Amino acid sequence: MDGVDELEAAWRELRTTSKPGVSLPHLAADALASGFDSPSLRELAGLGFRDELEARRLLPVVLQELGRDPDLAVDPTDPRSQVVPWAVVRTQLAPDLVHRAEQALAVVRRDLAPIAGRVGRLTLFWSGRSDDDGDPILEVGFDDEPFLGSWCGDPQEFSSGVDLPHLVQLIAASTQECIMETFQSYWPTCSLHRRGLHLPDWDSGLGDSGWPAWHCRAAPGHDVALVGGLTEAPLY
Ligand SMILES: [Zn+2]
Repeated sequence: MDGVDELEAAWRELRTTSKPGVSLPHLAADALASGFDSPSLRELAGLGFRDELEARRLLPVVLQELGRDPDLAVDPTDPRSQVVPWAVVRTQLAPDLVHRAEQALAVVRRDLAPIAGRVGRLTLFWSGRSDDDGDPILEVGFDDEPFLGSWCGDPQEFSSGVDLPHLVQLIAASTQECIMETFQSYWPTCSLHRRGLHLPDWDSGLGDSGWPAWHCRAAPGHDVALVGGLTEAPLY
């Protein structure tokens, strides 16, 4: 493999795993050393260890400049290759869907506030696909980085074609999963019993309040707060 083949392989890997197994600036430097050259290749080679996001953004540009088609480097059957940041996709979706999704996101962000310094800012992504009803399938990530799954779990995607309370529940559930996989910790927890809280089962509905609640299963079980009200309005 020459230097560019390795960059292409890294690009393929990036679309299927959350972490590249290699240093992109390193590969770019190798490609430069073996005689390839382009403005973005030089830029990529000059990036530091901490510029991972910037390196990911640059990589498809590099491949294009070197005459490779980044789309061909991606396995088109792999749904992970199509994830689109919310900031991009929100201008293309129906306004009422965008409004509902952003409302629901804001609700879940309220509950995340106490740990936002650790996990980052919760954001939405479009998976690039829609469900059978044509509603976009969404997923979550932190700090504009989609959670692309890990060795033990795929991201929990969800359809946006539900009402606000159900969308809140789906985003909260997906966020729980993402935090569990990415940070290896339970969120949120019951401060009384120091154990992880649960959302209602999808099939059992939302109960009298019509809004999902965080439930602690410590016997006999109690609802701790409605989702979005975790920090200010405990129910116990
Ligand atoms: Zn409890």
